[in-house]
Amino acid sequence: MRTLTGLPTARGFAIGPVFIYRGDGDMPVPEYVVEPGREEYERLRLRRARTEAARDLEGLIAVLSERSGKDEAKIFEGHLMILQDPMLAKEVVRRVTESRLNAESAVKQTVSEMRERFSRMNDPYFRERVRDLDDVERRLLKVLVGFASNPHLELKAPAIVVADDLTPSETVQLPRDLVLGFATNGGSTTSHVALLARAMGIPAVTGLGSITSAVRAGETVLLDGTSGTVTVSPDREAILRFHDLVERQRELSEEVSVASRRPSGTLRSGGDVPLFANVHPGVPFDGIRGLGARGIGLYRSEYLWLNAEREPTEDEQASAYREAADFAATLSPGGSVTIRALDIGGDKIFSLLSRQDAPRREPNPFLGNRSIRYLLANPAVFRTQLRAVLRASAAGNVRLMYPMVSCVEELKASARILADVRSELDREGVAYDRNMKVGTMIEVPAAAVNADAFASLADFFSIGTNDLIQYTMAADRGNDAVASLYQPTNPAVLKLMRGVIAAAKRRGISVGVCGESAADPLVGVLWAAMGADHLSMSATYIPVISKLLSRLTRDDLDGYLSAVEAMGDGATGREIMDCCRRWMLAHIPDLDNIAL
Ligand code: PEP
Ligand code: MG
Repeated sequence: MRTLTGLPTARGFAIGPVFIYRGDGDMPVPEYVVEPGREEYERLRLRRARTEAARDLEGLIAVLSERSGKDEAKIFEGHLMILQDPMLAKEVVRRVTESRLNAESAVKQTVSEMRERFSRMNDPYFRERVRDLDDVERRLLKVLVGFASNPHLELKAPAIVVADDLTPSETVQLPRDLVLGFATNGGSTTSHVALLARAMGIPAVTGLGSITSAVRAGETVLLDGTSGTVTVSPDREAILRFHDLVERQRELSEEVSVASRRPSGTLRSGGDVPLFANVHPGVPFDGIRGLGARGIGLYRSEYLWLNAEREPTEDEQASAYREAADFAATLSPGGSVTIRALDIGGDKIFSLLSRQDAPRREPNPFLGNRSIRYLLANPAVFRTQLRAVLRASAAGNVRLMYPMVSCVEELKASARILADVRSELDREGVAYDRNMKVGTMIEVPAAAVNADAFASLADFFSIGTNDLIQYTMAADRGNDAVASLYQPTNPAVLKLMRGVIAAAKRRGISVGVCGESAADPLVGVLWAAMGADHLSMSATYIPVISKLLSRLTRDDLDGYLSAVEAMGDGATGREIMDCCRRWMLAHIPDLDNIAL
C-alpha cells in the first residue's frame, strides 16, 4: 500500500480500478528510415492504423450524436473525411515506398506539407481545416505509437481516471457515469478541469506529480478528494477507514438537507450571507438540487461553446439562459442566475474559436486576447450573446456580468454596445427586463486597485478570486509547480479583497465572491467576515460553508476578521491560514468533521 499526496481538488471519496488516460501532449513519436525490405510492413501498419482510427472516429460520432446532438459530432465527421481522403493515403504511402520512412515519419511529413499548403491558401475554408489536420495527425500517430485513443471508447467500466493532465474538452468528453474520480500529475485546485470535476460532483486530486507512473491500469486505488490523497493497493484497514469517511459524509449531507429548510448561509445570530452555485452549462443542473444554493451565482457561458462545431445561435443561447433562469427560480423565491459573458481564452481555448479570428496559439494565453477583450474585438459574437441574455431576462431573474475587465474603458465600451443592443430590441419590439442588473467581475489586480472607479459603472461586483490570486501572485492557477505561491490569504490578496469590498460598500452596490476560494471553509468564511454580501461556489461545497456559517454569529465573524488583521502585512500566507485554522478550531472544534 502506498499513499500519494496531491492537492484536494474536488471533495468526495472514490474507490475503484485505475484507468490511465494518456493525453498526446508528450507522446514520443519515433522517426527513422527503415531497413530495405521493411517497407511493406510499414505500409501494413499504416493501413491498420487508418482502419483503427476510422473505427474510433465512427464510435465517437455515434456516441456524440446520441448524447449531444448532431453538431458536436460534425467536427469528427470532418476528421473522418480527411482520414479517408485517398490523396492523403497515397502521399503517405509514397513516402514510405520512395524514402523508406517509418509510418510515423511519413504521416508527420505528409501532414506538415499539407498544413503549409492549407495555411497559405486564401480560402478561409482551407485555412480552418489546418486544425482538423492536426487532430487527424495526432489520432493516426496515437494508434501507430500505441497510445490509448479516445477516452470515450476506452473507458468501458467505472474507474478512477488517472492522467498527466486533462483539458476541459477532454474532461467533458469522458463518459460521466463511468468516471468515479480524477487523479492527475499536474493541475491545481482552481484549474478549469478542477472546477468541472466539482461541477460534475466527481472527486478529484490534482498535482500528484507522478501518479501516472506510480500506478498500473486496473490497480485499485482509494481517492480522497477532501484531503488530497490517493492510496494505491489499499489494505483492509485503509478500506474500512475509507468507508467510515464515506458514511460520515453521507450523514453530513443528510443533516444539511434537514438544515436546508433554513436558507443557506444563515448565521447563528440571524442575518445571512446567501450561498449560490457556480454552474457549467452541459453539466446537468440536477446535481445542484438539495444542496442549499439560492440561485446560480456564476453561469460560465463559455461552456456552451466547448466542443461546438459552430457558434451557438442567438436562439440556442436564449433558450439555454432561460433554462438556467427557470432552474434558478426553483432554488429560492426570486432565485436569480448571473450569466457571465463569454470568458474565452486562457486555458479555455476551444476549437471553434481558434478556427475563427482569435489567434491560434498565444505565447501567453492567460495574459492574451481573452474574455472581454475577445468580445470587444468581436462585436458580432458579443452582440449575439447580449441579445440572447436580454431576451432570457424577459421571463426570468437574469443578471449579466463581464469577465476579466481590467480598465474602465472596457466597461464603458461594453455599456455602449449593450445600450445599442437594447435599442435594437426595442425597435424590433422584443421584450426584455429593462432593470436587468449588469455587473462586473473583479479578477484583475488593476480593477481591484481601482475598484472605486469601477463601482460607479456597475450594478454589482463579483470577485473572481481564481484569477485575482493568480494575477496578484503571478502564479499560474493551473500549475502545481507554483501551487505554494497561489495563496488566497497572502496579505496582498487580502488587501485587495478588503479594498474591493469597501469600494462596493461606499458606492452602495452588492459584492459577492464567485471564485472557488469561497468554498474553502477557512477562506470562504473570511470573505463573509470581510463583508461579502454573498458567496458562489461549486454546489457540492455549499453544505460545508452553510453549516459553518450556521454555527457563527456576526460578532464571531468580526472576531475572526480581527484575528486575521492582527497578523499584519508581514505575515506569510501560510501563517495567516494557520491563524484562521486556530481561530476556527477554537470556535468550531469539530471543524474537520464538517469539512469532509
Ligand atoms: C475566477 O476567476 O475566480 C472565476 C470565477 O472565473 P473562472 O474560474 O471561470 O476564471
Ligand atoms: Mg476568472
